[in-house]
Formats: sequence, structure tokens, C-alpha cells
Amino acid sequence: MAFELPKLNYSYDALEPYIDAKTMEIHHTKHHGGYTSKLNAAVEGTDLEGKSIEDILSNVSKHSTAVRNNGGGFFNHNLFWKVMGPNAGGKPTGDLLAAIEKKFGSFDEFKETFNNTAATRFGSGWAWLVKKDDGTLEVGSTANQDNPLMDVSDLKGTPILGLDVWEHAYYLKYQNKRPEYIDAFWSVVNWDVVSKFFKG
Ligand code: MN
Repeated sequence: MAFELPKLNYSYDALEPYIDAKTMEIHHTKHHGGYTSKLNAAVEGTDLEGKSIEDILSNVSKHSTAVRNNGGGFFNHNLFWKVMGPNAGGKPTGDLLAAIEKKFGSFDEFKETFNNTAATRFGSGWAWLVKKDDGTLEVGSTANQDNPLMDVSDLKGTPILGLDVWEHAYYLKYQNKRPEYIDAFWSVVNWDVVSKFFKG
């Protein structure tokens, strides 16, 4: 059972004008597709074959660099496509909003923290909102294709929202202006999905 590149629930142009169709198409087919096929090549014939991606990532320190980079890339993009959508944005409600307000003071303060974290991640990586084992929230970032499920990550927990800040995620439309891309991201966040991840 090889890992499969998931189909998106929306078309490549559905996130326009915030994320352009060309970036979406290349990002999904070439970048995510590449991580998926290289992950399969890295686990083929090893005792990792047939294991879940979460299981593999939780012990990633024991595996090869290829498994770490491509396993992270496979998982991270799976999450990324799910937490975005057309006709989205706004703010969360219910338990998730309450947890955000408890941790950060307000939704706006949470966004400011997340924006700063995403903008100051040096080089390539991801910004995350994670649910920790005690149920509370935390914002942080990881380098390259690492993520908070990995035993090698300083930031630990279940990622419920992730933002790809690799240049391949925004350069065609935003060039060097990463903060403008981060700002646009909020218009496509699907809070219903993030809330489901928060509930587990
Ligand atoms: Mn990416």
C-alpha cells in the first residue's frame, strides 16, 4: 500500500485571488507529488512499508533523511490543502475560538503571533497552530519539511493549522513579499476543518 497524492476538494483556481492557480497546480502536482513518490521510494522494501505516516513521523529520528524530508512533505501538504478552501476565512467559533482566546487573549492577537512566526521562520519551513497533549494551543514553526508530530521537533503536538512558507508556495505571485502571502492566507482558512482537527 503505497502513499497516494490526495485529490484536492476544490479546483486550482478556487483560492484566487489569494493563491493563484498556477502556484496551486505546480505546488500540488510537482512538489507534493514529488514528496509522495520519493517517500514511497524511501520506504519500499523496508519495515516502514504499510505503516501510517503518523507512525513513521513519530519515530523519524530512527529513519533516513529521505524519509524525514519526504514523509514530512507528504503529511504537511495533505494538511495544508485541507485547511484551505474557497468561500472561507473569517474567524473560528465555539470551542476553538474559546481556546484561542484563552491562550492568546484574542483572535487578532493569535493572528499577530502566527504572522510573526511565519514571517520570521528563516529560509524554508512551516508555521503551525498545534494542539498539545493537555488540550491547550501553541503557535510555532519548524524548518524544512519537519512538523510537530516528529520526535526531532522542539514544537510538539497535533498540527491543526499549517502554513507553508517555502518560496515555492508564494513566489510566482508574491515574489519576496512573504508577509503579503501570509496576510492573504487568512482569507482562505477553512475554520470548520481546523475546528474538526481541534476536536480530534
Ligand atoms: Mn510546499
